[in-house]
Amino acid sequence: MFAERYLNALNTSNLQDDDQHHQTEPLVAAALADLSGGSGALFGTMLLRASIAGVPRQVIESSARDLGVLLRVWTGEVARKGFERKWMNIKAEWDIKAAYAIYAKIARVSLAHWLGGECSSCNGTKVVASRVCADCAGTGREPIQGGALEIERVKDMVSELQGLYQAHSARASAKMRQAA
Ligand SMILES: [Zn+2]
Repeated sequence: MFAERYLNALNTSNLQDDDQHHQTEPLVAAALADLSGGSGALFGTMLLRASIAGVPRQVIESSARDLGVLLRVWTGEVARKGFERKWMNIKAEWDIKAAYAIYAKIARVSLAHWLGGECSSCNGTKVVASRVCADCAGTGREPIQGGALEIERVKDMVSELQGLYQAHSARASAKMRQAA
């Protein structure tokens, strides 16, 4: 299977974020440059690793380790798209802050949805502290909440993630065939 071969071929150094060293900062910067430059190779690699690892999605929420880096990169990209495409009407400085908060939420929900679609509060178990999970109303699926427009943006971003992932897989697959 391609994904497994590729995973084995990857350098095993993890994407650990360390408050003391901020080793992931150059990685975040490189991945953002990579995305805005249109290649998306580094971001695609990160997506592939995240999708194979199937890490519980609380990890995304904590913005701590591997997936935290992915989320930071994706948030930067979604915010860039949002400001470029004028998703929000920016009239005053405080609008920028409000817009960024919304873009960050769109990034978080779309990434979580793309990675598994399980509710991040109950992790798909439908239950929190012996009660029906309030966040997903017991469906176990990541709820896409918000206004109609916000939901539309989240769906757009889920498709963008899928597109980046597929483009990356196709490129990586072609490279591996050449190397074989
Ligand atoms: Zn839930």
